[in-house]
Amino acid sequence: VKIELLDHCASDLAVVNAARVSFAEHHDVMKLGDDKLISFLMRNRHGTPFEHGYFRFRVEAPIFVFREWHRHRIGHSYNEMSGRYTKLEQKFYVPSVARKQVGKPGAYSYEECPDLTEFLSENVQRVYRLAWYTYEQLLAEGIAKEQARIVLPVGLYSQMYWSCNPRSLMHFLGLRHKPDAMQEIRSLAAKAHNAFARSMPTTAVAFRDNGSVAP
Ligand SMILES: Cc1cc2nc3c(=O)[nH]c(=O)nc-3n(C[C@H](O)[C@H](O)[C@H](O)COP(=O)(O)OP(=O)(O)OC[C@H]3O[C@@H](n4cnc5c(N)ncnc54)[C@H](O)[C@@H]3O)c2cc1C
Repeated sequence: VKIELLDHCASDLAVVNAARVSFAEHHDVMKLGDDKLISFLMRNRHGTPFEHGYFRFRVEAPIFVFREWHRHRIGHSYNEMSGRYTKLEQKFYVPSVARKQVGKPGAYSYEECPDLTEFLSENVQRVYRLAWYTYEQLLAEGIAKEQARIVLPVGLYSQMYWSCNPRSLMHFLGLRHKPDAMQEIRSLAAKAHNAFARSMPTTAVAFRDNGSVAP
């Protein structure tokens, strides 16, 4: 799994200037007390000043991770590689360690089970081999890519462009960069969080102090 920040235009200054336009004010640099203004906006859920910016990422992850990602609808844009037009790559996700789900619905936690990792890995790869073999057989017979792909499992890698604004990124992070999120999306969310914190350090602190709840 891989995430790379391609481009961004986001800053703490853009947040305070968006808020201060209410008073027809604009500053060229952050001023003393601007951190308090950002904190005030965050706490009081004045969310719109956090919408003036964007982050553009390229993400490579298995389809089951994208299934979760694409549930984030508001302020997110996606473009993904097409299995209708492109022959998919023989690249499948094999977990590095097995885990078990313990606890009750609504309060699950996950425990690593190294002793089951080999069993998991062998079984997963057996299915991947058969699925890929079948995919290629179907293509060789002239079956359209859009039909042949239906034999491939959700452990297959895909790639996408993902753009979002700072507010929608915080909403995503509030749900996916936390302990109960699935580990595979959480590790990518952690990298997206790093990109966010580098570009908007004051906003990132205010977000953390607000319990990682987006404004
Ligand atoms: C730990 C975890 C477990 C999950 N388990 C499941 C599951 O079992 N099954 C499942 O289907 N999903 C599950 N999800 C996905 C979840 O239901 C959301 O689809 C996903 O987290 C995106 O959140 P969102 O809708 O707030 O984000 P966005 O789509 O980005 O929306 C952002 C905000 O906009 C507003 N909004 C967006 N659309 C509407 C609307 N139609 N009406 C009113 N307000 C709207 C809401 O305030 C929303 O919070 C899970 C998510 C997490 C983090």
